[in-house]
Amino acid sequence: MAKVFVLVEHRRGSIREATFECVTLARELQTAAGLEPAAVVIGSGVAPFAETLAAYLPETIVVDDPSLEHFRFETYAAVLRDLIERETPLLVIAPHSAFGMELVPRLSAELARPCATDCVAVGMDGGALAATRSVYNGKIDERLAFAPAGGYFATVRAGSYAPADPAGTGAIRAHACPAPPAAWRTEHRGYRETAAGAVDITQAPLLLAIGRGIKDAENIPKAQALADRLGAVLACSRPVVDKKWLGKERQVGTSGRTVKPKVYLALGISGAFQHIAGIKGPGVFIAVNRDPKAPVFRAADFGVVEDMFKIIDALAEKLGAK
Ligand SMILES: Cc1cc2nc3c(=O)[nH]c(=O)nc-3n(C[C@H](O)[C@H](O)[C@H](O)COP(=O)(O)OP(=O)(O)OC[C@H]3O[C@@H](n4cnc5c(N)ncnc54)[C@H](O)[C@@H]3O)c2cc1C
Repeated sequence: MAKVFVLVEHRRGSIREATFECVTLARELQTAAGLEPAAVVIGSGVAPFAETLAAYLPETIVVDDPSLEHFRFETYAAVLRDLIERETPLLVIAPHSAFGMELVPRLSAELARPCATDCVAVGMDGGALAATRSVYNGKIDERLAFAPAGGYFATVRAGSYAPADPAGTGAIRAHACPAPPAAWRTEHRGYRETAAGAVDITQAPLLLAIGRGIKDAENIPKAQALADRLGAVLACSRPVVDKKWLGKERQVGTSGRTVKPKVYLALGISGAFQHIAGIKGPGVFIAVNRDPKAPVFRAADFGVVEDMFKIIDALAEKLGAK
């Protein structure tokens, strides 16, 4: 039976949640296309990860070697080239993250296997890859149909599939690490923490998040004052951090923090997937945007098409601000 491999992404002692989203996709492909799913865990001292994955998929292949301690394209690619050539999976999927984005397209080119990146849906049509990508900031869905090939790669956008729950006990199989390449050009220099700051948006039950719609640094105090009156913590999208209007510790999204508030009030945020992927949990999501076609309204439970400053003023008035 043809196989689908899930490349397991882990960092600093834990498996990244996006891996479990890929597990859901692999299970779907098992049901819909008859592909046999297997997780592939690469690293040093990664036996515990393999044990975790064994509760999710029927098979986990583990390549454990000290040379694989840190993610590096050259060493990981050497392992995967060897594994793919021996096991010939029909499809290899990975999260569309810094890990997947560096590894998968380069492997695709090296192995001459077609690749679809940043997919929001992945399927098989007559034995060939069929994928959907969301382009132009979520305004258009692009469907890709691939020509027949010996195997394919796909990277999957965070949040496109719900994270899987454990289901049973799978087998764990060790795969020997091939000889590492004689030389490599990348080097792991260490991890640098962002300053923790005084706030922890990951723990706040009520978040008021502002985006580029805030327009100017001089409008931030207005948003902060409303957050204070609501008992909310102020969060933001990445452009607000890039402009240095708020600290990185307040950024929600794939390159910021993942939050699980009871209420998320987004003002002047367009709803790019990198932002939305950072909002999890069953809370209520309210979006205010003056553009009725803003993608944020697809993710929100309640939407208000209005100028955010009018909403800030109206709420401030309701809350008895002077
Ligand atoms: C690798 C990578 C990682 C990234 N990581 C993150 C991340 O972690 N977090 C993140 O947020 N982004 C991230 N981004 C950036 C992301 O792609 C978007 O560019 C960003 O989220 C857009 O921020 P925004 O919605 O504030 O701005 P914009 O997209 O410019 O949207 C501003 C919105 O405000 C609305 N608006 C303007 N004025 C008003 C007004 N007066 N009243 C009401 N609405 C108004 C507009 O209609 C618009 O929809 C990342 C990008 C990349 C490539």
